[in-house]
Amino acid sequence: MAAQECPAPMDVQTFKDALLKKRTEILGTGGIKPLQASMENNTRQGDMADQASGNNEVHIQLKLKQTDAKILQAIEDALQRIDKGSYGVCRDCGEPIAEARLHAIPWTRVCISCKEKQNS
Ligand SMILES: [Zn+2]
Repeated sequence: MAAQECPAPMDVQTFKDALLKKRTEILGTGGIKPLQASMENNTRQGDMADQASGNNEVHIQLKLKQTDAKILQAIEDALQRIDKGSYGVCRDCGEPIAEARLHAIPWTRVCISCKEKQNS
């Protein structure tokens, strides 16, 4: 019953590391390869690239660039939310975002049901 005044609802450090790593990837600063990188589970990002190579490549590349910029912005936002302690809460409905979803997309702002609403 001692010094736990500030219990973390989840291990945000894991997500922070993932966000910083992704940001580094997007910014192309390269060079720095955290030892952790090889230990992390596979993300789904490879799937998109694999599918893309079969399609209209120029179009896809443009699209990826836009996606990168969006992701970068989302990563910055997510890092700010980590600092403020509001990370992992859906921006639209205020419900906690499933941790599995955060592992897959650490920069996501909305929970899966709000995301599905957006897409439909
Ligand atoms: Zn939601």
